[in-house]
Amino acid sequence: MELQELQRRIRELRRNARRKDIRGPIGIWSEKDRLDGKIVDTLVIILRTKGCRWAYHSGCSMCGYFNDTNSNISTDDLLAQIEEARNKYSGEKMVKVFTSGSFLDDWEVPPVVQKEIYGSFESAERIIVETRPEYVTREKVKELKKYDNIMVALGLESANDTTLKYRINKGFEVKDYVKAAELLNSYKIPVKTYILLKPPFITEGMAIEEAIKSIIFASRYSEVISLNPMNIQNNTLVEYLWRRGEYRAPWLWSVVEVLKRTYEIGKDVVSYPTAGGTKRGAHNCGRCDEKVLKGINQFSLTQKIKYLEELDCPCRQRWEKIVKYEGYFWDYSINS
Ligand code: SF4
Ligand SMILES: [Zn+2]
Repeated sequence: MELQELQRRIRELRRNARRKDIRGPIGIWSEKDRLDGKIVDTLVIILRTKGCRWAYHSGCSMCGYFNDTNSNISTDDLLAQIEEARNKYSGEKMVKVFTSGSFLDDWEVPPVVQKEIYGSFESAERIIVETRPEYVTREKVKELKKYDNIMVALGLESANDTTLKYRINKGFEVKDYVKAAELLNSYKIPVKTYILLKPPFITEGMAIEEAIKSIIFASRYSEVISLNPMNIQNNTLVEYLWRRGEYRAPWLWSVVEVLKRTYEIGKDVVSYPTAGGTKRGAHNCGRCDEKVLKGINQFSLTQKIKYLEELDCPCRQRWEKIVKYEGYFWDYSINS
């Protein structure tokens, strides 16, 4: 299939996904996370919204979040979703609020809904909301500063502008992230940054090196960095490449490698691989996946390196060869 045809089909699928009349939050559950050096109970809320404005306009190459959105969602629908979350809240110290886009975008999440979240969970020690950098305005930051428990998560993905533009189609540049992060830092609002491991059109070895550089870069602005290994989502360019055998999700050994080499940068670096151990998520040989995922999880919660150092499996040698030799078959003219 030609790329233009693929783009046309993805646009059509996005429109169809939005026509589904689906209400209610995408998900609410409780899990463990790390806060101020301690493991705490965390309530995760994924609000069903109109979706990401960038996805309506163009969209990132790996992002299938639009599959869960509905353009007809109203303010009342969002308030009803929050009511449901409030009923499920049992005093967790941390509350993570995700949308399929940007929580601080007033078009996607009207200010009254943003305030409802802040008010509903004011007793939590921390509320994390996620947004694209363009919605981090001075006005918005002043509003966030009124509450003393909000952290803002920014999806930088990579500190390489070439990757942002050509591999991810992120729709913003590194300088836009820096501007937003510096503004938040100047108001002492803590920042969390997401770094993507293995965007398309990159080797396993290049992906590792780029993720390490990006984490070190983001650590200047962030209290915590989350390493997100690619997971293959429906109706995306990455899924198209994967079905053609032109993309493999990263190895779990690559996640381990990045975490080991960014250990002791002075900030928490964590990773909770979505769809880990499956073909659509970061995976190894199949025999060691569960054990390695457990080690990554324990490291992320405790920041104790022993959980990564004790991991091993015969497939690690195969991964080492791929990291070393895959580049020999690579066309470097398209990479920088
Ligand atoms: S990854 Fe984030 S910014 Fe990109 S299309 Fe998805 S929701 Fe929007
Ligand atoms: Zn293995």
